[in-house]
Amino acid sequence: MLLGKQGAGKGTQASRLAEHYGIHHLATGDFLRDAAAAGTPLGLEAKSYMDKGSLVPDELVDGVVDEQLHADDRLAHGFVLDGYPRNRHQAERLDETLGAERLDLAVDLDVPTEVVLHRIAGRRVCTQCGAVYHLDNPPEKDWTCDVCGGSVEQRDDDTADAVMRRLELYEMETLPVIQFYRRAGILAHVDGGAETEEVFKHLVELVDSRFDPRTGSL
Ligand code: AMP
Repeated sequence: MLLGKQGAGKGTQASRLAEHYGIHHLATGDFLRDAAAAGTPLGLEAKSYMDKGSLVPDELVDGVVDEQLHADDRLAHGFVLDGYPRNRHQAERLDETLGAERLDLAVDLDVPTEVVLHRIAGRRVCTQCGAVYHLDNPPEKDWTCDVCGGSVEQRDDDTADAVMRRLELYEMETLPVIQFYRRAGILAHVDGGAETEEVFKHLVELVDSRFDPRTGSL
């Protein structure tokens, strides 16, 4: 599981980790954005919260996570969670859902607020595949995604007001989650302020150092 402020690089790193280890990447934010783009009732309701920078109510998000976790062989095969849990209720609920298949590792991607503010102000995201770019690091061709050819745009919730609200909520709601995993003894910190490649290298070193080849898990 990756924890960290908005703009800490959770999405980018989680997707690379999933590819590297051949496991699933479960991102509640991506799922909710896709549902909003598809115009489903859940997506439209969620969007009204997301655009303000508020958390989507637990009753909507919990169902999404259950469905995602239980699809295919995800619980048995492994997954990296990105964007969930975001408050204590979700952390406790996840514990109940996973039962014996408890989480192996929760990583706090630590990035100073001034760095995330710069990253978010210039962040541009592919509307189709979610690949992340920045004004300082645009796609090769005129805001067309290098990966899938989709249109690369600013997220609706990357406005100054919504960003401030999300940072406030992070302090109030998500910091206690970090404490929750510290107590559970599975918390690690990685400096997320470095270049993407370097952060990824540290994450892989961390995961590999905990991997037990006898059990095939961490
Ligand atoms: P993210 O892509 O992770 O930054 O999430 C974007 C937005 O989706 C958040 O600001 C929330 O509005 C909503 N969201 C994502 N995950 C959750 C969650 N676990 N609980 C509540 N809201 C969430």
